[in-house]
Amino acid sequence: MRVDIIPCLSDNYAYVLIDDAAQECAVVDASEEGPLSTVLARVGLPLTAILSTHHHFDHVGANEALLAAHPRAVVYGHRSDVGRLPGLSRPLEDGARFTFGTCEVRAHHVPGHTLGALAYEVRTQYGARWLFTGDTLFLAGCGRLFEGTAAQMFASLRKLAALGDDVLVACGHEYTLSNLRFAAHVEPGNEMITERLAEESARRQRGEPTVPAPLSYEKATNPFLRAPDVSTFAARRAEKDGFRG
Ligand code: ZN
Ligand code: FE
Repeated sequence: MRVDIIPCLSDNYAYVLIDDAAQECAVVDASEEGPLSTVLARVGLPLTAILSTHHHFDHVGANEALLAAHPRAVVYGHRSDVGRLPGLSRPLEDGARFTFGTCEVRAHHVPGHTLGALAYEVRTQYGARWLFTGDTLFLAGCGRLFEGTAAQMFASLRKLAALGDDVLVACGHEYTLSNLRFAAHVEPGNEMITERLAEESARRQRGEPTVPAPLSYEKATNPFLRAPDVSTFAARRAEKDGFRG
């Protein structure tokens, strides 16, 4: 399975999963029709699945258009988003497992940013794992609390942190540099953060995305994953809301 990273809208990422062995492809977070249609036409394989992380428009805005062009595609999302997630045809519970081509997928319910937020863990036939986190876990950051509580988000991040160091985190927005500036403010003595800020800045200057990153990097540099308890997490989340680094 190959993953194409597709910049959409102003700073969103959608992902096209290409399974050459099974001759099918999937989209994670259909943000914008134009760029996705272009990639799907180039790939030329049937679109069989749309994995939606949550109901916000910048993650599902192209669901209906992609469905119109690829009526066989199954749209996955959390069961609590039935009625507000366009095209949702396979509502999922926490821990639900399904397959896409030769890959095994597990959905993790991660409320906080929204109440129906999901992260999708995709394991390829060779054992590599990707974790599509939407607006829950960003690289070096986390999503705002629009619907859930700090305690819910803290628990959701703990759950993702337990998935293993080698899993590749692929999130819904390119917020990494501003997140790392906040991380450096929270932990000025953390050299991994300083190094990562330099590395990721160079990557952005070359016009490359910072995604994906191994979960081990997040555990070393993400101030929200590193919060020791809910109250520290809540204070950091509130401070980040007004932070201009
Ligand atoms: Zn969102
Ligand atoms: Fe978003």
